[in-house]
Amino acid sequence: MAATPPSAFTGAASAGDDYLPTSGNGGYAVLSYELDLDYRVATNRLNGTARIRARSTMPLERFSLDFAGLSVVKVTVDGERPRKLAETPRKLVITLDRALDADTDFTVEVRYRGAPHPIRSPWGEVGWEELADGVIVAGQPSGAASWFPCNDHPSDKATYRITVACEAGYTVVSNGPLVSRVNRSGRTIWTFEMRQPMATYLATVQIGRYRSQQLGAPVGAAPQTLFYPPAIERDVMIDFGRVPEMMALFCEQFGPYPFESYSVVVTPDELEIPLEAQGLAVFGRNHIDGAHGTDRLIAHELAHQWFGNSLTLAQWRDIWLHEGFACYSEWLWAEASGGKTADQSAAWYRAEVNAQPKDIVIGDPGPRAMFDDRVYKRGALALHAVRRALGDAVFFPSLQAYVAECRFGLVSTEDFVEIMEARSGSDAVGELVERWVYGRALPKL
Ligand SMILES: [Zn+2]
Repeated sequence: MAATPPSAFTGAASAGDDYLPTSGNGGYAVLSYELDLDYRVATNRLNGTARIRARSTMPLERFSLDFAGLSVVKVTVDGERPRKLAETPRKLVITLDRALDADTDFTVEVRYRGAPHPIRSPWGEVGWEELADGVIVAGQPSGAASWFPCNDHPSDKATYRITVACEAGYTVVSNGPLVSRVNRSGRTIWTFEMRQPMATYLATVQIGRYRSQQLGAPVGAAPQTLFYPPAIERDVMIDFGRVPEMMALFCEQFGPYPFESYSVVVTPDELEIPLEAQGLAVFGRNHIDGAHGTDRLIAHELAHQWFGNSLTLAQWRDIWLHEGFACYSEWLWAEASGGKTADQSAAWYRAEVNAQPKDIVIGDPGPRAMFDDRVYKRGALALHAVRRALGDAVFFPSLQAYVAECRFGLVSTEDFVEIMEARSGSDAVGELVERWVYGRALPKL
């Protein structure tokens, strides 16, 4: 048998997504992350251990993880030191003594430390960020590597157990239910479990001096909890008072809430935009006015639990499957709560989109325009066009079929079209998506 050249045993240092060509890695798929973090808010010092259970997808001698801005202390693979360890500004490259066979489970343990800070990206600074007195993590699209070594691409979803120790007096919020909280010599150790597969960019840690309160009754078994600075309690309770109603509406329209808990964090700092993470959403104090001025955004972030978090794009070019659907959910909430009908919103925003240049295709907008407002609005318009063509009695059950069939998985625009057409028995969906999502000219409603 001829010897295989060594390159055949090297996993690619990219997920092969041309929107983020340096993010993600090949040669393996992650099964679970276990992150053990010891953090000091006062000095922004992080000591971490990441235990990453993965499965090789090819014979593997060398592979990489995304990791940026922190120092590696020690790496083991199945308890052994690797033959070679190389660090580049964005990657940790591990070479093993002996290649793993394909389809072999292995565990990488990385001990690391440093002062975490955001990563510069074409979409601004992303990742772990200090607040005036606390922390937020906004990972989308490439910030996860700022706080743990990972395979940073949404196509590789995994389960998580995140433990954070920090000074007593702070509240830590992370993905999934809190499974334990222990006080030890002036510090509190918080452990969270996300048992449903999660994309790296949706992993988060929020730290602040928060008070918490339950919102309404649990959805299924999932509690809804609000975390906020005590000073703005009154306004926060007013603005988020209708989350249980929104939750009920979206459960009715999209199907059951996908996760085991839903948390909303309001930071004492101002934030440019709210952000979604799996099982939670984060708003800045500037988004709160005590007069429901943020309902649109609250509905948007909640809808991402279905569109983006449970159903996650396999390639960033399909971002309209997250943002168009979340934007449409704003219109659905408005319609259900006595505001504009979806027809009125669609007419209004179609005119707005029509006034803008028609130089992007929302089904492949290019990395720079990934979060362009036209992707959101025209994406919502596409969905509204499908709803109008099918009628509510067919549209909503078809949408629920799409959500149910792709639950916790990866989606593409083709999946959406295929499932909607199969469930509705109409071949109109593909043609509408072709014009609204892949065309430049703006169709009429
Ligand atoms: Zn969004």
